[in-house]
Amino acid sequence: MASGTASGSAHVVVLAFPQAGHTNPMLQFSKDLASQGVIITLVSFAFDHHRMLKADKTLQRLGIRIRFESIPDRLPPGIDIVSDVLYVFSNLQHIDGSDLEELIHRLNVTGPPVTCIVYDAFMPWVAQVSTKLKIPRAVFYTQSATVAAIYHHFKYVEKWNNCEQDSNDVVVIPAIGEMRMPDLPSIFFPPLLTAGCLDINLKLIESFNGASWVILNSFDELESKAINYLREANVPVCTVGSLIPSAFLDRINSEDTQFGGSPWEEETEECMEWLNSKPPHSVVYVSFGSIAAISTKQLREIGRGLQSSEQNFLWVIRSAAGQGTVWEGFAEEIGDRGLIVKWSPQLKVLNHPSVGAFMSHCGWNSTVEGLSAGVPMLGCDLCFDQPTNCKVMVEVWKMGVKLKRTQQDDGDVTFEWDEIERCVRRVICSEEGAELRKNAVHWKESAKTATMEGGSSHSNVSRFVKEVTKFRQLLVSQLNEI
Ligand code: UDP
Repeated sequence: MASGTASGSAHVVVLAFPQAGHTNPMLQFSKDLASQGVIITLVSFAFDHHRMLKADKTLQRLGIRIRFESIPDRLPPGIDIVSDVLYVFSNLQHIDGSDLEELIHRLNVTGPPVTCIVYDAFMPWVAQVSTKLKIPRAVFYTQSATVAAIYHHFKYVEKWNNCEQDSNDVVVIPAIGEMRMPDLPSIFFPPLLTAGCLDINLKLIESFNGASWVILNSFDELESKAINYLREANVPVCTVGSLIPSAFLDRINSEDTQFGGSPWEEETEECMEWLNSKPPHSVVYVSFGSIAAISTKQLREIGRGLQSSEQNFLWVIRSAAGQGTVWEGFAEEIGDRGLIVKWSPQLKVLNHPSVGAFMSHCGWNSTVEGLSAGVPMLGCDLCFDQPTNCKVMVEVWKMGVKLKRTQQDDGDVTFEWDEIERCVRRVICSEEGAELRKNAVHWKESAKTATMEGGSSHSNVSRFVKEVTKFRQLLVSQLNEI
């Protein structure tokens, strides 16, 4: 039931970071708020605005109304989020907030006043806009609570410097337990450390101070220790996950099957038809997210590993990232046992009964999507927060295996074909795999419970809506007094 009436609704401005792994959960959160009667204005950057307008079409079909606005990005023309990802991240970190401020002034004049700004943590400058305009702010953190707790611990409790990524050193983080160096976010080590990525991530943690909410795409049961740690440290954590379209989670709205705003054309029919022809739990779905560029050498190792595992596979190879082909004649060799697409409808694929395992880079969204679909994972973490996500997925949730990477003679580090073959067989064909699936299904049920009436995330979203609506009433009474 809508919490706000048409005239007394809260008006939330949502500022998304222009990359699929950031916009997807934010769009879902916006949909959840809009369906509770909150007025949403979703703001994107100019270069990415067309993608958000595509999302509008999806939302209109669902009868969800969200307003779309854009602000200038001040980036050079022709910028590409995939090939220039670090450049875009570091530039959007520092832009001056006057465009957003102007937009909010305009929105205040034309519509109900803005009562809250929800913004991606990677844009900490929004805090100044919120302070200046006296509008409460909600930081939307797109990584896990565990990762947030690690950075928080490092920033405020204990520093570890000059540690080597591949050493056996261990840090003990009370909220989480022992973390080996290779399981920490790779940002603690060169080259990402030297590129300034640790500083960026610590600034995000700093931006939690003074925020009214820190929104996490997680749920209390999933990361209870890290979430408790953050709450005890006075971080106003508001867990709202899993942020997954309704058709794949609470199943209340069977039409809600997409986030909207997909960066590339989804090859839906092809994937679904092919999956329909395969037996239950027989397919390995392989995807490394929207940014990672996989070397040709690594593609070949994956190709050979999948081929020699003799299992079915659906593999996303994004041509947009300039990724090479597997090898000449690969498609003919694998015949109907494998399907390669450029971009998949990932949620539909993961929730298809034929899918038996998810070979993933363990980006946070993919991890949440995999567990919410109850699919065991083959963790091929590459960088950023992925090693930590992978560790938790394997050791805490016990719903997958981690693949080992090997240093080659030329210095490259790759997942080798025989490791891939071995792990695919372990998850798809063995009793151990069945146990992993059972655990994954447990997390799927927990994710569903958290978002249904009475669940932790459901209650948090309702509380958030009540609080922003209360602020709206406060604003109106102040205006009446003037
Ligand atoms: N995704 C998709 N189709 C694909 C591959 C990925 O829709 O073929 C979506 C996926 O569902 C997820 C996002 O892209 O929501 C990737 O986010 P994640 O955090 O996993 O990784 P990132 O792209 O940020 O590395």
